[in-house]
Amino acid sequence: MNKPAIVEFTEIEGEMEHAPPEVYAAHLIEWAAERRVSDIFISDDQRSVRVSVRRLGRVELVRRLARDYGTKLQGHFRVISGAGAGDAIHPADGRGVVTTEEGKEYDFRLSTIPTLFGQDVTVRLFDSKRGNGGIESLGLDDCEVASLKQLLDQPSGLLLVSGPVASGKTCTLYSSLHYLNDGTLKIHTIEDPIEYPIRGVQQTQVNLRARLDFSELLTAVLRHSPDVIMIGEIRDARSAATAVRAGASGQLVLATVHADSAAQAINTMLQYDTNPTFLARTLIGVVNQRLISKLCVDCRKEIWAADDLCRNDRVWRKLDGVQPKLYRKVGCAKCFETGFSSLTCLPEIMCIDRDIEQAIIHGEDPGQIEQIALDHGMLSLADAAQVRVLRGDTTATEACRVIEHPDLSYLAAKERELL
Ligand SMILES: [Zn+2]
Repeated sequence: MNKPAIVEFTEIEGEMEHAPPEVYAAHLIEWAAERRVSDIFISDDQRSVRVSVRRLGRVELVRRLARDYGTKLQGHFRVISGAGAGDAIHPADGRGVVTTEEGKEYDFRLSTIPTLFGQDVTVRLFDSKRGNGGIESLGLDDCEVASLKQLLDQPSGLLLVSGPVASGKTCTLYSSLHYLNDGTLKIHTIEDPIEYPIRGVQQTQVNLRARLDFSELLTAVLRHSPDVIMIGEIRDARSAATAVRAGASGQLVLATVHADSAAQAINTMLQYDTNPTFLARTLIGVVNQRLISKLCVDCRKEIWAADDLCRNDRVWRKLDGVQPKLYRKVGCAKCFETGFSSLTCLPEIMCIDRDIEQAIIHGEDPGQIEQIALDHGMLSLADAAQVRVLRGDTTATEACRVIEHPDLSYLAAKERELL
């Protein structure tokens, strides 16, 4: 485990606790957005209020605030996001916009939960550079972009995006919607919650209190003659059946599901009691993914180059004659001394062909389905990670943090030896 980093907070101007909380909040958000922070946590502990951030996937402590001031800051965020400042006893959600003195606007989502010493307020920043851009902004290589576009260009069927929590699934879905949203298609989403608005897309929020669940809303959406439907997350048998039903009725359906691999995502759908034949005929592909830190190209340093770094034929073919190399992170002003520039998508893209369809119908296990896909040219997550390491897009240590695989451990050991 790395020691938790403590961020130099003096970089935030006007952050003095004498400044009104709204000024502090604006500076904090601006500071965080510049550094590609995904979440800000303002949490009560025994004596103070801790401000920490998640940056490049890791949590860093930023500052301890005096209790009074911290409570005011939490209250301010709650008020501007419509979550109500007075009630810290119940969990609450909201969304809001912070405008800086220069007029820049930052969208965020807020959620709070009561804790032992008070509350934990999480401010999730929307990364406009990634989610708002097209598929090209996700950090996929040209081949991966082409595969994803090929799936999205199909007029109907179910496309699943899988991965664990915080693996960038929603970002991939939103970028896909931006790609499809060219004004010629009617697009509906059913989300819980709506991450951020997209112009021209009809977005509907699940509201369980009003008994509006995925299934209920989908039935209504289908009457609105949509071309594309995005269903936030499949999390039970009802939403799984709903997604398959929609995909089979002539629309393109995009949805996320929790699973560790593309083949496991199919298994998860079957665990939710979907009919194997129905699923096999409707499913067009699975994009399984993780987020991985990309090395800063301004400061990364090459440490070794040799053909024998690559021990896998699929990876070797993908490198296409480029000499395998290892790089290490350094750190410069551009990457705020972290050595990494951004979090990018590491994908495993499974396109459902005739053989995989038959394998699903015949109840083959995930291992066999994965083998068919690999034989037909799919790169596994570990393969894609090795390609990124050997191209110098990331370090072997970072790849090992995200994926466990003997070939990656070998590269990480080599990297340590050379440092
Ligand atoms: Zn740098």
